[in-house]
Amino acid sequence: MATDTKIEWCDHTFNPWIGCTKVSPGCDHCYAQTLMEVRHKRAVWGRRPVLTADGTWSQPRKWERAAETFRAKHGRHQRVFCSSLADVFDNKADDAWRGRLGATILNTPSLEWLLLTKRIGNAVDMLANMFSYDVPANVRAGATIVNQEEAARDLGKIRAVAAVTKLKPFLSMEPLLGQVSLAAADPAWHQYVGWVIVGGESGPGARPMHPDWVRALRDECAEAGVPFLFKQWGEWAPLDHVKLSRDLTPAASLMLDGTRVVHGGAPHIAELVRVGKKEAGRLLDGSEHNGFPEAMVA
Ligand code: SF4
Repeated sequence: MATDTKIEWCDHTFNPWIGCTKVSPGCDHCYAQTLMEVRHKRAVWGRRPVLTADGTWSQPRKWERAAETFRAKHGRHQRVFCSSLADVFDNKADDAWRGRLGATILNTPSLEWLLLTKRIGNAVDMLANMFSYDVPANVRAGATIVNQEEAARDLGKIRAVAAVTKLKPFLSMEPLLGQVSLAAADPAWHQYVGWVIVGGESGPGARPMHPDWVRALRDECAEAGVPFLFKQWGEWAPLDHVKLSRDLTPAASLMLDGTRVVHGGAPHIAELVRVGKKEAGRLLDGSEHNGFPEAMVA
């Protein structure tokens, strides 16, 4: 699915700057911080991010030059996830940097730019500044939502973003930390959300995800005709979804109370095992879910 990144839903990642500030429970175990602050000492979380080198900024032009070859092979355009190590709509990142990013996006019309943020409330104004109020057709904005509270708080903001972009925004529901009903937050959500990605948390301290939370979103998407991609279980998998190759210590398994689950079947307790992301895989009830939105206009 992906070409030069292990992320299932994109072909490339591009980081115009590095560094961020935590703003959501989804940030608690920020992978980017572990990698770029703790390990590589490239940025300090909570402070101003650091602009990346010109060599990094030249990557999108290289991908643009390969656009025809890619399209001939895959029948679609390359998807670029912007800011896997930062947040594109971070107030602490300079507007001038975002302006440079906007120019890069305009100069690479064959790339579909996925601008994923945990600050969707900034997106309308910042997009207007980046593109002089005319967001190009190769921009797809996305918002991370990890629980029902964020869904209730942010769907209206996503709707406002959809009104200024040509491609419908997407939701990245990773790490999914509780049961979410998008329809409960806004019955019209499917009119302006074009894609839903769901995933569990990986890495040290990862929080488990009840399988019924995933099923409920899968079913809501199917009902609404919105493409659904299940990215991964993460660190923890339901016991009945994995073949255990070894004995597990008690600390590696837990029972997750599913009594809050009200959609998609009777509430039940799930038994989860800590097997690691690789072994946990990405099958849900025996199937991969690889929904993608319609490709952007050629
Ligand atoms: S928004 Fe993303 S990069 Fe920033 S702290 Fe949160 S998880 Fe990390």
